[in-house]
This record gives sequence, C-alpha cells and structure tokens, in this order.
Amino acid sequence: MIKSFILRILILFFSFFTFAYPAKVKYSTWEKSLNFEKYLEQHDISKNILETLDEEDALLVSDIEKNQKFYELIASNGVLLQALIPVGEELQLHLRKTYEGYELKVIPISYQKNTYFTLLSVDKNPHDDIVFKVKNIRLANEFTRLLKHSVNFRGIQKNDKLAIIYTQKMRLGQPIGIPNIKVAMIESHKKKHYIFKYNDGKYYDEEGEELIKKYMKKPLNHIRITSSFTKRRFHPILKRWKAHHGTDFGAKRGTPILAVADGEVIFSGRMGGYGNVIKIQHTDEYMTLYAHQSRLKVKKGTFVKQGEIIGYVGSTGRSTGPHLHFGLYKNNRPIDPMRLVKFSSNGLKGEDKEAFLNRKRKYTKIINTIFDKKMPSYVWNTIDKLAVLPKMKKYYKSRGW
Ligand SMILES: [Zn+2]
Repeated sequence: MIKSFILRILILFFSFFTFAYPAKVKYSTWEKSLNFEKYLEQHDISKNILETLDEEDALLVSDIEKNQKFYELIASNGVLLQALIPVGEELQLHLRKTYEGYELKVIPISYQKNTYFTLLSVDKNPHDDIVFKVKNIRLANEFTRLLKHSVNFRGIQKNDKLAIIYTQKMRLGQPIGIPNIKVAMIESHKKKHYIFKYNDGKYYDEEGEELIKKYMKKPLNHIRITSSFTKRRFHPILKRWKAHHGTDFGAKRGTPILAVADGEVIFSGRMGGYGNVIKIQHTDEYMTLYAHQSRLKVKKGTFVKQGEIIGYVGSTGRSTGPHLHFGLYKNNRPIDPMRLVKFSSNGLKGEDKEAFLNRKRKYTKIINTIFDKKMPSYVWNTIDKLAVLPKMKKYYKSRGW
C-alpha cells in the first residue's frame, strides 16, 4: 500500500521525462564498492558534471552510505533518466538527463518534524518497553545511551515510570533519523532522575553538569573554526539547499594533524573532493575523516594512538585554501564532531546556567503535572489532535510548544 503510494509519487516526480521514453522506476542499493565517480562512469556520464557543484556539495557525493537505497528512472533502452540518491539524513543528489546533457543538484528529502511526549510504566525494562510500546528502536537506544550515565538500570523495577519529550522526523508515517530528546526522566526507588538538552546541543544533569564525557581530543593543536557542521540549510543567496558534513579548521599548510582518539587507519589516499584523506575507525560505531591534507603520514592498516601525527594540513581536492575538513561518522552517517570532541572544558556558567535552570524548571513542571494527575501510561503526540487530551494540548500550547 505505502510502497505503491511512494511509487506513484515517484512516477509523478519523474514524469517530466516519461512522456518521451517509456521508462521504469528502479529501487536500487548503493553497493559497498561503488563511489559516485564510478556510478557516473557506469552510465556514460562525464565526470565534468562534478565541476558544476561547489566546494561543499562536491564533498557530499563522497558521503553516500554503503547499502543506501535509492531510486533510478531508467529508459527502456537502458539510459539513466534520473536518480535520487540520499546523502545523510536531510539531502539527496538529483541526477537528471536533460536535452543538453546531465544535470546534478542537491535537493532536500521531504519530511515532517513532530514533537512527542511519551510517558510509560515499566513492564520488562525501559529499552524493550519503548521498542514495544512506542515502536521506535532509535528512541529506545538514545534513551538508554543518555540515561545510563546517571541511573543504574538494574535497579529499575516494574511500574517505575519514564518520560521523554522529543522531536522526531517522520516520512510516510515512519520515523527517520535519530530522535532529538529534549528531556528524559526515569523514576527509580521513588526518585526521579532527569537529563536535559541545552541549546548548545549537549546533555546535562539536574545540576547543569555535562553528562557525556568527551573522549576525543582536538585534531589540531590550535583550533580556529571556519565552518561548522550542518545537515541541511537553505543558502539565502545561492537559493540552494546545502549541507556541510564536518567542521572546517583554518590552519597554515603543513600544520600537523593529530588523531583524535586511538584507532585503525582504514583509508589513506585520494578521495574525490576530499583530496588526500585519512579515515580512522575508533570503535565499532565511530569513524573520523581528515581531508584536504598536503601529505599523509600513516598508511592503511596502521594502528594510531590519540594525539599521534597522521598527516599535514593542505588544500588538496575541492578546497579554496589550506584547511582541515574534519568529519565524524557514527555507523557511516555524518554527525556533528562537536558532539564527541573536547574543544574546551567549560561547564555551564553565568547566563547560560540561568537559562538552563529556567528550561529545567519548565520541563520538570510539565512532567510532574502529568505524573500528579496520574495520567494513564500512554504515548502522546502533541501535534496529533486525536492522541492528546484537549486540556493537555492547551497546557503545552501555553508553554509555547
Ligand atoms: Zn569542510
């Protein structure tokens, strides 16, 4: 049902060309060994098309995930008419045949973002209960990851309660990407344990202490950020969608680049717009990438220590001047390096601390109100009218949600 719906939308989307050629929509998988240059070659498309992309977009084409599903529209004679290939969670490459030749653009993936409020009584354990009742395994994973620093999960008993306020991107009724938890609470032995996200993107406990200990160090001795990580933004002047899957640090050519944590070098060589690149696999989940290097110092297969020199800053690949493009990937998906790299050791102070405490009071009040009214264990969607009691909706609204 949903599949046929997607197909219909795609056919509509692709229909600019279907009048000219009888064509088929194909749902394909991006093979492990495939890269965008090879893909172009397979379809007899000139690599020069990459020159039509600007510096940042040229890097995106190297970020197509292995095993990524994507759509192709193929003419009956086998010619590729269009392809839609996701890069990251937010954007996709749109390759299209026109009368003049092929055209390559970066366009957004459409989704809606909803705010949800979830309150559950524990039956088995928090993780399984979230998976079973909310049907969102990534929410269960995030919840466990964030709370494990402050709560001993083994002490949690049946009928203990948990609450989560979060936003989730949805597409065709399915959650996409990692949910963004704003506040989470778990009650254990009659005590409520909270974690809060502040507007710096980091998580704090009730006292404003940072929760997750950063385990990665800076990739350069002196840090000067020239461009930050973004998953998706609309460039107001270029009038185009863009993303930047890493953090750029300005530095002189030849400045030593340091491994941010122990790991194995899994790539050392040239890679499209990234130029000379080193990739280090740290744990099963995390991988870091150091691009545009003038000289690579370590070979594939080497084990490096945190702080070890792996290469030198340069301007190879698509780059307008010497800088380090530093990328952090979790399960091959780009995430903001600021989430794990320790750049400075500042906790919340002054105005930030005040603002944080205000936010904390607001959220705890909402959660306590719902607790005190002994609302049934339920999943509330603050957007969906049917799922939220009118009184609660009013309550949320009055708090500016
Ligand atoms: Zn960059």
